[in-house]
Amino acid sequence: LLEAAGIRKIFGKLTALDGAALTVGENEFHGLIGPNGSGKSTLMKCIAGAEVPTQGKVSFINTDITAFTPSERSRAGMSLKFQITSVLPTLTLYDNILLALQGHCSLLDLVFSRSRRQLHDQVMMMLTQFRLADRAFDAAATLSHGQQQWLEIAMALAGKPQLLLLDEPTGGMSLEERRVTGELLRPIKQHCSLVIVEHDLDFIRDICDRLTVLDQGRVLATGSVAEIQANKSVQEIYLRRA
Ligand code: ATP
Ligand code: MG
Repeated sequence: LLEAAGIRKIFGKLTALDGAALTVGENEFHGLIGPNGSGKSTLMKCIAGAEVPTQGKVSFINTDITAFTPSERSRAGMSLKFQITSVLPTLTLYDNILLALQGHCSLLDLVFSRSRRQLHDQVMMMLTQFRLADRAFDAAATLSHGQQQWLEIAMALAGKPQLLLLDEPTGGMSLEERRVTGELLRPIKQHCSLVIVEHDLDFIRDICDRLTVLDQGRVLATGSVAEIQANKSVQEIYLRRA
């Protein structure tokens, strides 16, 4: 589904990515891990088109998308939830989802192509899926931090992407909220692949099929969760941190 290869990204004098690569199959949950500053967010941005790599190639669904803009990538079926929020706090959850749906077609299409009932049902279904239905008509600002993250993931899924990119979605969440996040993500595997950046290794072990470990802008290891856990150099960088 996704293949990023030979990705270099240079910021002035700093080489953030030095030939990094990432391959993700269909219906695969792929964890991207590594120490702070190893280039995880930069790689995600290069994949989503939010940063232009200095060198390298990104293919998505057998198409070279290296020169695609972020919105072209989004239309091709890729969705990135930025660390910066896309939730409009004064609007209700319901309206936030409606706007996210509108991001993938014009408002006129949205209103005329479906009955109001269908549209309403779709918004409510998405809110139900993310356990937010009872808050549908509250302002988004009244949600807890964890609930806001769930709303954002729901919004990122509005365009029915084939690949969802999440950069530290559980940052600042309680243990219980993390557990629920895992439960909320699992079902999307039926129709979507996931690349997720996380510092919580237990969380990542639970939901991911494969992992890629970055260190200083390079891939230290990539493989199944079991392979990565058994990998000596990976153990070393995590011991170094501990
Ligand atoms: P963290 O786990 O802390 O989120 P990360 O693995 O996501 O780290 P990146 O944010 O990708 O790391 O950063 C990799 C390196 O690139 C860091 O040294 C960072 O300071 C640098 N960097 C990232 N974005 C920029 C930018 N826009 N301009 C200059 N340097 C940047
Ligand atoms: Mg980061």
